Amino acid sequence: MAKGGKILTEQMVQEVIVEDNRAIGVRVAGGKEYRANQGVISNIDVRRLFLQLIAPDAVKPELRDKVDRRITNNNETILKIDCALSEVPRFTALETENQEHLIGTVLIADSVAHVEQAHSLATMGQIPDANPSMYLDIPSVLDPTLAPEGKHTLWIEFFAPYQIAGKEGTGLDGTGWTDELKNQTADNVLKKLGEYAPNLQNSIIARRVESPAELGARLGSYKGNYYHLDMTLDQMIFLRPLPEIANYTTPIKNLYLTGAGTHPGGSISGMPGRNCARVFLNRQQPLAKAQQSVNSMLRSLLNQ
Ligand SMILES: Cc1cc2nc3c(=O)[nH]c(=O)nc-3n(C[C@H](O)[C@H](O)[C@H](O)COP(=O)(O)OP(=O)(O)OC[C@H]3O[C@@H](n4cnc5c(N)ncnc54)[C@H](O)[C@@H]3O)c2cc1C
Repeated sequence: MAKGGKILTEQMVQEVIVEDNRAIGVRVAGGKEYRANQGVISNIDVRRLFLQLIAPDAVKPELRDKVDRRITNNNETILKIDCALSEVPRFTALETENQEHLIGTVLIADSVAHVEQAHSLATMGQIPDANPSMYLDIPSVLDPTLAPEGKHTLWIEFFAPYQIAGKEGTGLDGTGWTDELKNQTADNVLKKLGEYAPNLQNSIIARRVESPAELGARLGSYKGNYYHLDMTLDQMIFLRPLPEIANYTTPIKNLYLTGAGTHPGGSISGMPGRNCARVFLNRQQPLAKAQQSVNSMLRSLLNQ
């Protein structure tokens, strides 16, 4: 990298090492330690960071307690279906051959109430697949290089519970999800989509289904939450993830927070990273930054 940095992949952090209330590095799986010159920036959710990766006596009990009890994660995540298709889905409601309309996300729902119901049932631990609502994308419409000529790729996100009610302690990681159940759910989702695009079922060359439990394990996110913590009003802006740690900093010196669990939250905006980088750089060179601000203020005054 241009500035001499190095990116290491496949290095699972098992501990953020804290000494005298200062983050001094990380220990990864296998025991290797990396020492931090300037600080440690965490991009994982704050629950796992404070409750699992930092020694309990390094975090003030009040903060541990708040992280444990105040952060809400309403159990809703995604069952993901990826398909290779021999042809593009032809939606009966789309009265044109123009595929431009298939660029971007499609929401399948019978009504607004249906969407509400789909999300509410997932939160309550039920799989809303009796009448599935879903989001889907056909990325190969925009970028045909993603599939062999004339063929297509499709991915579907079906909102589903991480922990299935009544199936605690069974299936993968005790969530109740099994291979059989995820495939059964995917069958129901694809059947529903087939009602909107009747050529779909016969065009599926292959499919890969990832259950909420598998998605959570792959992303390393708490309860499979791809936003790290829920995007509810009480956990947004200066309240994200908690009021006392909402400024990308923590009470532990040189330990910074970024990612979906910080303002402005999940999705691919890049903003949590940018904001955290600014705070981090300001902390590294407070005098130089103050000088820069004064200079720019003087320049703008002189130019008036
Ligand atoms: C199926 C699906 C579809 C989505 N669609 C969209 C969309 O269309 N548009 C949109 O804007 N957003 C979408 N999102 C949400 C978006 O992907 C996330 O909000 C976003 O990726 C969060 O980025 P992040 O960098 O903060 O965290 P993450 O992407 O969760 O990155 C965290 C990283 O930390 C790594 N990690 C975890 N634990 C450790 C550890 N102990 N040590 C080392 N590394 C670790 C993980 O492997 C991961 O790479 C979608 C999410 C999913 C799951």
